[in-house]
Amino acid sequence: MEAKWVIGDCWLGCGRTGLPVVWLGPLQWDGQHAPVYACEDDLNRLKAQALAYFMQRQPAIA
Ligand SMILES: [Zn+2]
Repeated sequence: MEAKWVIGDCWLGCGRTGLPVVWLGPLQWDGQHAPVYACEDDLNRLKAQALAYFMQRQPAIA
């Protein structure tokens, strides 16, 4: 998937603003939608966590 970077605010842990962020997807909460953006640091952290999740759910066939 091609990531599209824009200058904006990070919605994840670091709380930084005015830096390159990428759109992750819509956050749905209580019937409302909000766009969630993440900076590169938080994106890398999320990617590592997602990879660990995929490996746990779909273990490689030995
Ligand atoms: Zn961040």
